[in-house]
Amino acid sequence: MGMRIGYGFDSHAFKAGVPLVIGGLAIEHSEGLAGHSDGDVLLHAITDALLGAVSAGDIGTFFPPSDPRWKGAASSLFLQTALEEVATAGYKIVNIDTVLVMAKPKIVPIAGELRESVAALLGVKPGEVGIKAKTPEGLNQDHVAVAHATVLLESLGIPEPVGAMVASADVDDEIDVVVKTLVGDSRDVSALGRKVTPFDTDDLT
Ligand code: MG
Repeated sequence: MGMRIGYGFDSHAFKAGVPLVIGGLAIEHSEGLAGHSDGDVLLHAITDALLGAVSAGDIGTFFPPSDPRWKGAASSLFLQTALEEVATAGYKIVNIDTVLVMAKPKIVPIAGELRESVAALLGVKPGEVGIKAKTPEGLNQDHVAVAHATVLLESLGIPEPVGAMVASADVDDEIDVVVKTLVGDSRDVSALGRKVTPFDTDDLT
């Protein structure tokens, strides 16, 4: 059985006057995270882990911060695109593990809620999502939120000729039909198309 791993990292500075959103969850706090989007540091790290696992570039490839369309965007949109890339490549999530590093707010009291939120966004069970928290001891980063994420994927078991076609990703319409046939309509792949934007690691989202 084919398996792949992915890893993602992100960081955002805290900023007064914006809401704090982590893992798709609105969190009561005196400051939010600065960013072109909603600054959801955890979803950005998970998005990059998913994209990396199927060699599909990174979050900046799909959502360049230079594009005004993504200003203030909900990061669940970025995550959805990464999930579509994973399905198109013929894989599904086995489990995901994450680490959040920030001085405040304390994550442990809301870790259960965060796990539920992230699991719902990923379409997996809460038991397949790990949320861990650290304080940035000795790093002098008390005004920054950092997130790390790893993901394990397993192949959907697409037969070789079809798998090869999906992997080549030449004909988007045919791929959509194949993916819908194999994984059903649980995820909307109609807007798919492996983007051919230039590879860009510059992520300010
Ligand atoms: Mg980011």
